[in-house]
Amino acid sequence: MKITDVRPYVSMPIDGQPWIFVEVTTDEGISGIGECSDYASTGLLVRGLDWIKREVVGQDARNIENIWQTIFHKFDDLNGRGFVSHLISAIDIALWDIKGKALGAPIYQLLGGPVRERVPLYTHVQDWNSNAGGPEDAAKAAVATKEAGYSAIKTDPFPAQAGPDAGFSGPAEVERLTPENFRKSVEWMDAIRGAVGPDFELMVDAHARFDVASAIEAGRALEHINLIWLEEPIHVENHNALRQVRENVRVPLCIGERHFTRWDYTEVLNSRLVDYIMPDVAWCGGISELRRIAAMAEAHFIRISPHDALGPVSIAAGFQVCMTTPNLYRQECLHTWFDTFETMINPMFDVRDGSIYPTDRPGLGIELNLDNVQRYLVDPDTREYLNIDTPVENANSKWIR
Ligand SMILES: [Mg+2]
Repeated sequence: MKITDVRPYVSMPIDGQPWIFVEVTTDEGISGIGECSDYASTGLLVRGLDWIKREVVGQDARNIENIWQTIFHKFDDLNGRGFVSHLISAIDIALWDIKGKALGAPIYQLLGGPVRERVPLYTHVQDWNSNAGGPEDAAKAAVATKEAGYSAIKTDPFPAQAGPDAGFSGPAEVERLTPENFRKSVEWMDAIRGAVGPDFELMVDAHARFDVASAIEAGRALEHINLIWLEEPIHVENHNALRQVRENVRVPLCIGERHFTRWDYTEVLNSRLVDYIMPDVAWCGGISELRRIAAMAEAHFIRISPHDALGPVSIAAGFQVCMTTPNLYRQECLHTWFDTFETMINPMFDVRDGSIYPTDRPGLGIELNLDNVQRYLVDPDTREYLNIDTPVENANSKWIR
């Protein structure tokens, strides 16, 4: 079964969130879909997929592991973690989809079969910096989420740094939490905790923003909230700094969306730097690698909770691994996007009561709804809609190769 093409589709049905879907086709008429969406790097990744296409066309689609290793080592001068592992993820997910379809089985069956009846999710309420309202609005959203059947949510309660000691706003900065912002963060979390009660599970995401002192103070200030975890309290490049945070807080820690492949997790797990890990299946190396990382974590008695803030193919892929993973906490989702997911895939996941239930459909169990995917195609660099004035059947094929 030879691979004949790798086609990216950059589709943006939600403003500001371009999703990179990938279709891998074969000479036996079976095709699979993958995803490696990354909102800041869309154009780069689409160009990278063009290079990957040159490597994989003509290869046997059944040889998933060999293709994984070939791509990883071919481009390892770039460091296989990050850019390369995103590209591998898209191909790997699509190849597992193909294998499942070829064998007539869901991927979770090919991975050893289910160890659970359903995959529990956690979702989000608005972050402090993305919310026009106050803590009362976040608390109301948390209650609505609880009433919708979820039993765990995550939020970022930390206002962005402002004032004379703030630099230019940008992702590379190391932020300081001012006393005023500490107070606001605690108010935010107190409101949510008060609204949802003591047993509802809460997580806080610091988005890798802080200096060590602020990270430690944030962990201490939120201790009374009884968090499941404090996520990425500092940026991920220096594990000694993370160790300093770990040794000075009494909240569980989680990292992982900026860690890729088994090798990034080796020191994290061996040094016992965190209590949970959250690899993203569309970034860490795909279904093959998420499965391996989960097994590594199991050996350390640590649960995984796959990160997912991307499109519907990504969550379908993570779900397949979660079904077979004994040391699962929950899979992340943004439940407010499910209406959009429903228009982009067919069929929609079987989502009930804050969980996704498995089906017997082969592969990932979903297909892209190409009419709607193409309706929202954007230029990967400018994010301008390509088909806004053209009927879908005449869609500009610039990014469908
Ligand atoms: Mg995060």
